[in-house]
Amino acid sequence: MTDVNNRNIVVIGAARSGAAAAELLSRNGAHVFVTDAGAIKPGVKSRFDEAGIGYEERGHSEQARKGEFAVVSPGVPDEAPLVQYYSDGENRVYSEVEVAAWFCESPVVAVTGSNGKTTVVEWMAHMWRQAGKKVLVAGNIGKAFSEIIPETGSDATVILEVSSFQLDHIHRFKPEISVLLNITPDHLNRYQNSFERYAASKMRIFSNQDRDDKLIYGYDDPLLRQRFETETVLPELLAFSARGAVQHGAGIVDDKMMFFDNQSREVLMNRFDVGLPGMHNLSNGLAAALAARAFEVSDESIRESLRKFQGVEHRLELVAELDGVRWYNDSKATNVNAVWFALGSFDCPVVLIMGGRDKGNDYSEIKPLIREKVHTIVALGEAKDKIEQELGDVAPNLYKTEAMDEAVAMAHRSAKRGEVVLLSPACASFDMFDSYEQRGDTFKKLVKQL
Ligand code: ADP
Repeated sequence: MTDVNNRNIVVIGAARSGAAAAELLSRNGAHVFVTDAGAIKPGVKSRFDEAGIGYEERGHSEQARKGEFAVVSPGVPDEAPLVQYYSDGENRVYSEVEVAAWFCESPVVAVTGSNGKTTVVEWMAHMWRQAGKKVLVAGNIGKAFSEIIPETGSDATVILEVSSFQLDHIHRFKPEISVLLNITPDHLNRYQNSFERYAASKMRIFSNQDRDDKLIYGYDDPLLRQRFETETVLPELLAFSARGAVQHGAGIVDDKMMFFDNQSREVLMNRFDVGLPGMHNLSNGLAAALAARAFEVSDESIRESLRKFQGVEHRLELVAELDGVRWYNDSKATNVNAVWFALGSFDCPVVLIMGGRDKGNDYSEIKPLIREKVHTIVALGEAKDKIEQELGDVAPNLYKTEAMDEAVAMAHRSAKRGEVVLLSPACASFDMFDSYEQRGDTFKKLVKQL
């Protein structure tokens, strides 16, 4: 634990995790000053008032530069002059995850990757609960890590979803198990459009781990495989593969999910008994199973959870079956790779609704799957013309629209019995919606009205 008593600390950004870090530090005796370039929510301000935390909004005064160190919220970019000020000088910048870890009394499983984090975190939590073990979930989803600190103790495990932004400013954060699912291009705008920088920031998850810790990684990801086959690292390496066997970890052979321990192998269950669809969910399930096993969750509980876990809303979620057409909401698919896995999950013809705010996407990765499975694309929102240019000659039909109700109506007319309508946008939602959740909810409501 780091002693913050009587230290002057500046927190940059008062969104959920910044505010929670400020309160945590203040409770531990620090003199905290919160500064935000924008407005701070009234509810947050009254919490600060109650805790005696100083704050300012809509800009940074001289006082914002007087911290011994700064804690930066994940939403604040590194280019922000105040972050630069602390990074360039003697003073340091820490992320909220780093700070919360100073006070955490539970072992931590930290999950990162470009896709699948929330699914894997929730799946792990389901396995722990299945086994009757206490688990606390935090990070990118729901509660901030700082918020759950009072509940931590040696009887509980913290399962943490961490984004690359959170990993950018860790110094001592050291999970007992780190999980690196996959690394594909996303959020490159935050990394000067450099894939290497983005990947390096995800790799930081295990940078403080030692020999007693474990690192679980996706063996089917070429970048991760290459890295861990050629380089030795301190933590024990456990690989998972949905495509075959691995030396040490979990994989699938002859449709059986198995654990591998160098010389020995042990069958867990038939892969067709896994409740969630798609190859990516086999990977996710194997990753979760490895972590659970390391925490002595019984194989029986792991099996039960692999069978029963229902998945997370907005991730390849079955909304309805109408006249023999199955409608899926995959609104959380905000990059091309997630769409690739979504399409890979179906063996029937698909009507694909995609689009929104393009994040510099390269759609060529999904061309073969579109050619094979998609007879109609409904291109939505700001990205519709780009989608038409890049994919118009790959799918037999392409319609464009600016409205979700029209998109659903178009898909309804196009899909035939035995087919799937899939909302898997590959894009952000902010051109038409507040969030991917709102986009998914709108879609679901419209489908249910059909
Ligand atoms: P994250 O928290 O990393 O954004 P989610 O679990 O919320 O991941 O899933 C985001 C999207 O990625 C969904 O469309 C989901 O179906 C898809 N997905 C889930 N797991 C994987 C995986 N292992 N590889 C690729 N795509 C995945």
